[in-house]
Amino acid sequence: MEKSVYQDALWYHKKGRPGKIEVVPTKPHDTQYDLSLAYTPGVAQPCREIQQNEELAYDYTSKGNLVAVISNGTAVLGLGDIGPLAGKPVMEGKGMLFKIFADVDVFDIEVNEKDPDRLIEVIKAIAPTFGGINLEDIKAPECFEIETRLKEELDIPVFHDDQHGTAIISGAGLLNALELNGKAIDSIRVVINGAGAAAISCAKLYLGLGVKKENLVMLDSKGVLNEKRTDLNSAKQEFVTNEAYSTLKEAMVGADVFLGLSVGNVVSGDMVKSMAKDPIVFAMANPTPEISYEEATAARPDLIMATGRSDYPNQINNVLGFPFIFRGALDVRARMINEEMKIAAVKALADLTKKYVPELVTKAYNMENIVFGKEYIIPKPLDPRLITTVAPAVARAAMESGVAARPITDWEAYERELGA
Ligand code: NAP
Ligand code: MG
Repeated sequence: MEKSVYQDALWYHKKGRPGKIEVVPTKPHDTQYDLSLAYTPGVAQPCREIQQNEELAYDYTSKGNLVAVISNGTAVLGLGDIGPLAGKPVMEGKGMLFKIFADVDVFDIEVNEKDPDRLIEVIKAIAPTFGGINLEDIKAPECFEIETRLKEELDIPVFHDDQHGTAIISGAGLLNALELNGKAIDSIRVVINGAGAAAISCAKLYLGLGVKKENLVMLDSKGVLNEKRTDLNSAKQEFVTNEAYSTLKEAMVGADVFLGLSVGNVVSGDMVKSMAKDPIVFAMANPTPEISYEEATAARPDLIMATGRSDYPNQINNVLGFPFIFRGALDVRARMINEEMKIAAVKALADLTKKYVPELVTKAYNMENIVFGKEYIIPKPLDPRLITTVAPAVARAAMESGVAARPITDWEAYERELGA
């Protein structure tokens, strides 16, 4: 199956017009007069208006619905540093998902620049074009500084999806798994294997959701981040534990949650056996998880498990987040995507999972019925309610946290429009 999917993918990308996206005009262009409005001389007037008042770019240009998906190709999927051009199919794919799930338009921008300072300058220089910036597949630890500085220096949303997308979706899964297990988030012990882009952001968001820092242990390729380590970057230093141990095997004993954002096949059935009652394992290394679904569930019948894969229950898939998060942020013209907005997305996703699942969704997945439980702790990507649930939650949180320049007043009309 894997071999044929890769062969099919080449054909899919090449057939007809190469690639996956194109630019489509949104205004009439049939007459000479239409053209004199679209371009010279008429176009000079919106230019003059925007020169006087930059806010009007949101009325007279595509800026307000246009997101840049920007990558330098240094951490593409699980393929590593394959360079900006080789990463372009991924960025085009992201553009396609933004469009089909949330009607957000995207320019994919592949930048041949690894130096963080220079990449930041490039992105700042092109930012006027866009209503938001989705950073993509930029390697850790550089991605932390790049995003932090751009967030400070730009007044449009900047969001590195590899960090926060995963954190938000897995956060929703975590809340629901804990609810099923009847465990309080402030009492659980969490082991995070991996200390890269996704892991660091997950850890930060989980603290925001209520996990206690002293109950969290993080590991990288050299073991537990503890006080003996002298080789840690500043992002890792934030998660140094006081625990004396240094191996994953030791850290797993009695843990309530294992979160894998590292590499495949590093967790054994025995390690899962050593976890606390009703353990939660999110093994998200792609395409091979830290432990296979079969081995983990065989080790512990009381386990709740999620992976990054679509062929097992509970797929942690970023597409549940970024289209709708940007939709909500753009619709209230949010200056940024802040913690409040991320947590609103987490809660909206968690709540949606507990609602009755319409037949349309069960049919799309060829299932009899889908019910909140161990094998359904996060919504399915083809659930059409995602946009009408997550986007308004994010928009509301932007307004309540004071970062929305254009608040929504008629929520019913907004939700109708989203569903249309
Ligand atoms: P990243 O920034 O490259 O981070 C990878 C981290 O894993 C690094 O901290 C690395 O340690 C650590 N690591 C490598 N081998 C390890 C080992 N044997 N034990 C413990 N830690 C180890 O990559 P990322 O973007 O965070 O992604 C990490 C993984 O999660 C990838 O497999 C990716 O596909 C997957 N992922 C899945 C989803 C999803 O399912 N939705 C989303 C995002 C990411 P060092 O720091 O020491 O190098
Ligand atoms: Mg990515």
